[in-house]
Amino acid sequence: MKVFTILPTDLNRRCWNYVSKEEVKCGNCNWRTTRLFVIAESKREAIRLVGEGQAGLCGECFAEMLADEGYELKIPEKR
Ligand SMILES: [Zn+2]
Repeated sequence: MKVFTILPTDLNRRCWNYVSKEEVKCGNCNWRTTRLFVIAESKREAIRLVGEGQAGLCGECFAEMLADEGYELKIPEKR
């Protein structure tokens, strides 16, 4: 699983998280931000999860989730 960035332009306008071409809404705190973060297997899956209301957090809520739920990170090999 990887972390994907979802921008307003990635979303359907009817998606709950979509606010405008520049803004999206966090699924946890409702704050408006420029991007959401999603854990998924692919960008396509990440977009689907946001569309289904199952994912999509602002940076603050995403970091809090990682800390609170005990996620472990894998450092990528040098590119
Ligand atoms: Zn949030």
